[in-house]
Amino acid sequence: MNAPLIIVGAGIAGLCAALAAAPRPVLLLNRSPPVRDGGSDAATALAQGGIAAALAAGDSAEAHVADTLVAGAQHNERSAVEYLCTQGAHAIEWLQAQGVEFDRDAIGALALGREGGHRCARIVHAGGDASGARVLAALTRRVQAARHVRWRSGVEVNALLVRGDAVAGVRVRSLGGREQFLTASAVLLATGGVGGLFAATTNPESAQGRGLALALAAHAPMRDLEFVQFHPTALAVQSGVRLPLLTEALRGAGAVLRDAAGVALMQGVHELADLAPRDIVARCVFAALQSGRGAFLHCEHLGLDWEHAFPTVLAQCHAHGFDPRTQPLPVQPAAHFHMGGIAVDLDGRSSVPGLYAVGEVACNGLHGANRLASNSLLEGVVYGRRVGAHAAKSATDPLRRRTLWIADPGHALEPEALARLRRCVGESLGPLRARQRIDAARHFIGADANLAGSAQGKVALAMLEAAAARRESLGAHHWEVNEAIDATQSA
Ligand SMILES: Cc1cc2nc3c(=O)[nH]c(=O)nc-3n(C[C@H](O)[C@H](O)[C@H](O)COP(=O)(O)OP(=O)(O)OC[C@H]3O[C@@H](n4cnc5c(N)ncnc54)[C@H](O)[C@@H]3O)c2cc1C
Repeated sequence: MNAPLIIVGAGIAGLCAALAAAPRPVLLLNRSPPVRDGGSDAATALAQGGIAAALAAGDSAEAHVADTLVAGAQHNERSAVEYLCTQGAHAIEWLQAQGVEFDRDAIGALALGREGGHRCARIVHAGGDASGARVLAALTRRVQAARHVRWRSGVEVNALLVRGDAVAGVRVRSLGGREQFLTASAVLLATGGVGGLFAATTNPESAQGRGLALALAAHAPMRDLEFVQFHPTALAVQSGVRLPLLTEALRGAGAVLRDAAGVALMQGVHELADLAPRDIVARCVFAALQSGRGAFLHCEHLGLDWEHAFPTVLAQCHAHGFDPRTQPLPVQPAAHFHMGGIAVDLDGRSSVPGLYAVGEVACNGLHGANRLASNSLLEGVVYGRRVGAHAAKSATDPLRRRTLWIADPGHALEPEALARLRRCVGESLGPLRARQRIDAARHFIGADANLAGSAQGKVALAMLEAAAARRESLGAHHWEVNEAIDATQSA
């Protein structure tokens, strides 16, 4: 059995899985260069707030479970949540052992921040709001030093090889356009999310659901594709598809959302006000913008050491001509995180033999209908390690199966067609949904052979179909008022 375990994606989930697979040989394939060499397109590199773990005196894994279930509208897979939350403290210790230096308070204890949906301070962070980049840099160093891992960057996996009924390899395309087939004992997809399919997102533009498209082509079932989390506070600037994020930790530190007249948007809407679960805050901001009231994040009163606590936010604001210390910041919701994904069990197994998935591309039910803030980096560590170890052990011999076929998800769209798709997805799968817009979007994509035959178009259609099939409002999937009534009446 000489073929390696192939892991696709070098964000937090792929890197943790690669380390946990030792001593099994791993071939790690990634589109962008490692973060240390600059230019990583992993969402992990952009993560600001940090990692949730029940570490504070008086906090507990049970309380973290309860908050995760409330945020997820109780749509979560309870066993997946319990495993995540009970592993939280251990995951932080393990990251420290890998070289991550988390921020500390005045007495040298880990500094804990607070974010939406958490009933206490529970978020460890590094470099202020540079948590993701710091974690990614440390894990990259570890993986580059690991003797069992061979890392090839600058390659895009654009098809899966299926032998008999099992995934047995991949087809890669280099930046220069050369294609090559690579055999694997099993393939683990850790390819991240779908924000880049929306007109406005906090994600890297390249996060276009390529892992979902590969799995769809191999006939792997999906789960909960309709649930897309919108971050309520992206900086509202005309800067293209990816908008700068204003981390929720700002509201944890006391920042307040107000309309243009100064009225607090979240007052009286939820008992946690500005720290209500993200889907609720995102809908309020969206509604305020739709009705012309405007939406602004007020940070002027915080009296923070900005360079130390929020250097990333400060630099982003300055780059766009804003100063959070002296003026309110215009905000808008932007596609941020995909709760749905390739349906997997807690060991990352899809129902196609030899195909595993972990991280944002996967769905084991952990996040339910709406992710609790800062649970996804934790997911990358906890499930990345579990799934990597499992995929390494249960690898099968591909040579024993006969017929070989290529699961090809379709072409990648040219920029102009991609822009049309993004507008269509942004209008139909936003924080407030209408059946008419979803049907129109399905028709629009289906009637255009270029869009419908593309990898991105197929993922968009699968998400639209999932949204159309869910009759009730739940978590991040929210019908406009009349739709909810119609859905209830016809149920
Ligand atoms: C701005 C921002 C802030 C965030 N802040 C937080 C936070 O504070 N706390 C938190 O818990 N979560 C946060 N999140 C969410 C979290 O960062 C992501 O959910 C998580 O990092 C996803 O990790 P991943 O390993 O699954 O995917 P990613 O980190 O996105 O990595 C995917 C990798 O797969 C590669 N890839 C994709 N397709 C292919 C292909 N076909 N072939 C080869 N390579 C491919 C990409 O190059 C990329 O390197 C934030 C997200 C964003 C966008």
